[in-house]
Amino acid sequence: MKAPAKSSGSSSPAASTPALDVGHGPGREAGASQGLDLFALLAEHEHEQVSVYYDPSTGYRGIIAIHSTVLGPALGGTRFWNYQSDRDALIDALRLARGMTYKAAVAGLNLGGGKSVIIGDNRTTRREALFRAHGRHVESLKGRYITAEDVGTGTSDMEFIKAETNHVTGLIGRSGDPSPVTAYGVYRGIKACVRYRSGSDSLSGKAVALQGCGSVGYHLAKLLFAEGSEITCTDIDPQRVKRVVEDCGATAVAPDAIFDVRASIFAPCALGAVINDDTVSRLQVEIVAGAANNQLAEDRHGDLLERRGITYAPDYVINGGGLINVNAELHGWAPERARSKAGEIYDTLLRVFEIAREEGVPSYRAADRLAEQRIAAIAKVRRNFV
Ligand code: NAD
Repeated sequence: MKAPAKSSGSSSPAASTPALDVGHGPGREAGASQGLDLFALLAEHEHEQVSVYYDPSTGYRGIIAIHSTVLGPALGGTRFWNYQSDRDALIDALRLARGMTYKAAVAGLNLGGGKSVIIGDNRTTRREALFRAHGRHVESLKGRYITAEDVGTGTSDMEFIKAETNHVTGLIGRSGDPSPVTAYGVYRGIKACVRYRSGSDSLSGKAVALQGCGSVGYHLAKLLFAEGSEITCTDIDPQRVKRVVEDCGATAVAPDAIFDVRASIFAPCALGAVINDDTVSRLQVEIVAGAANNQLAEDRHGDLLERRGITYAPDYVINGGGLINVNAELHGWAPERARSKAGEIYDTLLRVFEIAREEGVPSYRAADRLAEQRIAAIAKVRRNFV
């Protein structure tokens, strides 16, 4: 084990450059960070800061990546994952942090983008000391980064973090399950797509192919059903399908058959990378609009949708309701305010489609431009000392 007892907790954006050769624990790739060109990785997408922290008493090995704080403190969840190498962990943190910057920017929130990863087996039952070590890492950044739940972490872990820092959201008894707000934002986003295509945003009689009948999928199905949509749904969990069939008059199909359903809208609300080489040519819809993160397997699949004349609602725009819900917790918003903010996804998507048309780019690129425009405009406003 080469790592120093504590590699970093720096709060300086420019100077936090800890030794990255942390925590080569048993079973992990030896020399995992060899050849790691740290500043090149940061420069690639203009990240502000990476902080690495090691706590020998718990074996905590954590990385916090801050992509941008132009709009506000960098917010993003803590992912607890057994990465193959330190490099994989760092790249995941950087990639996810950047995604959060764009998501917050297009949602019109005063938040920047960050993300943290804890390297290890997320099934461990020894969580308190580990997450308190993470809380101390978060605290060392003095509010430049705010954390929340992500893959491998839950609300009780956030409570452990809270013992060491106030820069944490998603606490027990606070904003609660974000999926109703997310579903409402997706519903409004679907209406915007329909309006963009046909001039009217009514979903009455529209056929929707819904993939995933989980938290968001179920709430979305209820909203669509209330407006008179005809839903075809699927899930790998038969109980979840049954609920949507019974409560929303949906027709069920097998999981793989959902891509072949002839409908107006395909709403992916299950997994990422569902628009891929296999599925993109099978879709018989006008619109792809759903809650799932990272729907395009690769950017070029967004180009292929465009070429097929299918309107794609960029995932991080249409599923911003979850982040809006977290923001509501941070600022003590009433639930109606969070819902109303999620409803603005309608106008944001219309703006994305307008940029796409004006600039002759696919919608997923137009969304990036909208985010970048807002960040650049606010950076200019805030350049003076006041
Ligand atoms: P969930 O786990 O409650 O639901 C996902 C559902 O997808 C489950 O019912 C699961 O059985 C099903 N599923 C998994 N593989 C499938 C397959 N191959 N075919 C069909 N169904 C499959 O999750 P959720 O909270 O409803 O989130 C759904 C998606 O939306 C995820 O990609 C999530 O990252 C994204 N998202 C959720 C929120 C939120 O507020 N919950 C916010 C933003 C983005």
